[in-house]
Amino acid sequence: MDFKTKHVSGVCECGQKFSGVIPEFAKMIMCDPCALVFQKKRDLERMAGCLRESADSCGIPKKYRIWDEAKAKEVGSDKLLIWLRSQEINSIWIGGTNGIGKTHTALYRAFELLHEENIHPYCVRSSAWLRNIVTGRTKDRSDTEKQYKRAIECKLLIMDDLGKERLTEPRAELLYDIIDERDRRDGSVWITSNFSGQSLAERLNSSGEGAHEYGHAIIKRLKRMITSERIWR
Ligand SMILES: [Zn+2]
Repeated sequence: MDFKTKHVSGVCECGQKFSGVIPEFAKMIMCDPCALVFQKKRDLERMAGCLRESADSCGIPKKYRIWDEAKAKEVGSDKLLIWLRSQEINSIWIGGTNGIGKTHTALYRAFELLHEENIHPYCVRSSAWLRNIVTGRTKDRSDTEKQYKRAIECKLLIMDDLGKERLTEPRAELLYDIIDERDRRDGSVWITSNFSGQSLAERLNSSGEGAHEYGHAIIKRLKRMITSERIWR
């Protein structure tokens, strides 16, 4: 024991008589079974706190850490979740229109991976994230570098809503760098998008001068990486 103890006798809150040794800092008398429950509760609270912090740092917003099975059935994302669970953490493409719960499902699955398998995915809103990194609109320069490094090095990168952004040349270059680095490192990427891979390719190919070149290369890399594509309507 790394703390001082004191000998006390009295009655625990549960009504049990207690006589024994407790930590000197303890303010109330607790019988051994109650102390055990108390400790367990403290451990659970600590664990929940850690999980909350990790989920924050992974970029999983609170509302996506909850799964409403009835609502999921309504929009059909219950099947999407089952499919995602079967995909392990290979690179995948989740395409389809708005309102089918792509983001919620992908981020909820990310939360499951964190909770159950201690995998820390890095989840970003692709348009805002690309824009912020390119313009350095993060906390400071070191934060920009940290986020960039994380996008390259994390085990699983989730790019939510890819294709929404206007792909200017600097953003296209950044996106290319990240996809290319992840491809070389065998990192996985999950992409959610309103587009199918093919229609995003067409969109990228028709984007402006410089971006067009990168768009081409991005699609080439993605085609190699993505093991399954699922389009939900
Ligand atoms: Zn007790």
